[in-house]
Amino acid sequence: MSDSNRVSEVRVRIAPSPSGFLHIGTARAALFNWLFARHHGGKFLLRIEDTDIQRSSTEMVKTIIDSLKWLGLEPDEPPVYQSQRLNIYKKYIDKLLSSGKAYRCWCDPEMLKQKQKQAMAEKRQSRYDRTCYHLSEKEKEKNIKSGKPAAVRLYVPEGETAFDDLISGNLRRNHKEIDDFIIARSDGRPVYNMAVVVDDYEMGITHVIRGNDHIFNTFNQILLYDNLGLAKPQFAHLPLILGTDRSKISKRDGAVAVTDYAKMGYLKEAVVNFIALLGWSPGDDREIMTIEELIESFNLDRVHPTNAIFDINKLNWMNGEYIRKTEDYVLIDLLRPFLVESGLVTQLFINTRWDYMMKFVGLLKGRCRLLTDFISQGFYFFTDEFDYDEKGVKKHFVSIEVAENLEKWLCVLKNIESFNVESLENALRKLAEKLEIKASLLIHPTRLALTGTTKGPSLFEVMELLGKEKCLLRIEKAIEYIRTKYK
Ligand code: GLU
Repeated sequence: MSDSNRVSEVRVRIAPSPSGFLHIGTARAALFNWLFARHHGGKFLLRIEDTDIQRSSTEMVKTIIDSLKWLGLEPDEPPVYQSQRLNIYKKYIDKLLSSGKAYRCWCDPEMLKQKQKQAMAEKRQSRYDRTCYHLSEKEKEKNIKSGKPAAVRLYVPEGETAFDDLISGNLRRNHKEIDDFIIARSDGRPVYNMAVVVDDYEMGITHVIRGNDHIFNTFNQILLYDNLGLAKPQFAHLPLILGTDRSKISKRDGAVAVTDYAKMGYLKEAVVNFIALLGWSPGDDREIMTIEELIESFNLDRVHPTNAIFDINKLNWMNGEYIRKTEDYVLIDLLRPFLVESGLVTQLFINTRWDYMMKFVGLLKGRCRLLTDFISQGFYFFTDEFDYDEKGVKKHFVSIEVAENLEKWLCVLKNIESFNVESLENALRKLAEKLEIKASLLIHPTRLALTGTTKGPSLFEVMELLGKEKCLLRIEKAIEYIRTKYK
């Protein structure tokens, strides 16, 4: 695109290398770019940085694209693949060579490494000594003719490079810190900084929003824009994301590939909302925000230059809030794969017992933070096969009297006509009065008998949903268990 053709619309991108899955940091960069584009009515693009063929795989490209899709951050134009653009980079590298801004370097990489080591040992700054820059024209000609492979280096004169970062303000670097860096390897492939500049320019990128681990690259990239005479985008470097112990985030913090969040039972809306607040805030105390609200409020001014903290507890809390905001019938469909995979329920059951499923979801949704919690907390709605919680047994199945009380309760239950919350509660309280015991001495053992657990939704609601037949059977089974234990 020539400068005169450049339109004023905002164009941003993410540029992952497909050598890993979509990491949480890249997902955050993707979201911030996407929100920035949507806020300004611009375009969000994807570039796959796959020049390192050995470390790239089509499977990983697919994972990246699928992860973005899951998050709802699909690019507005087809992805650009760097591996298909090697000829284009070559043109720009040749331009730098022919204008004398760059020069060929035939130095042996092993020898350079040795020199570097020595400099380090002598506590000297290690810079390329410009051996090849200083070769005579004749020597250069000879080398070129011989076909000896050459890397290409940018000539970096004395001086300073500075830019105004949209998040961190004015940043500057003295060229004493910047080597005559390599822009093309001896096999002709461009290095990262070279390819990025060409691509960002040709893709018409107006704002480069990426992690601040790229700040040093930005100085090199600015040198390339200037030497090529290309208009520069604006830069915004996002703070790092750290774990709660302030070290680099890892699996320990629950930070994993984006696709894993779906498998772990997170809702994408919650993940997006959570990621949006990793280093940005709307300027008030809102935390739960819809995607429309995020688009409306997003701007780079409120990205904090200090590090962001990844707190999985906050994500879990947020996910619970989103579960409660989701309609019950939608939740059933979200739960479907988890339920089927657990082996507790079939698709047919879900489709033909819709009322049961709606009540199940309604009973548990207030208590679950992850979709998987519906299973760990509500398995007993789908199976009779479960063990009693050990602590629960110690606390509630304590003596033969418990079995005797349950037997009396069983008799009452057998005679209950309408098996609903109200009549069940009345009946239990009446029996407790008659036996002169606290109602809890019936409630807790009954819960343990029916669910194997000590916690859960209101017992009478659980009983109503399970139905008379299952309740009678499970209480009978518990009586037998207690009798055997205290015989
Ligand atoms: N491939 C680089 C990365 O994955 C791209 C950085 C950039 O946005 O320029 O970090």
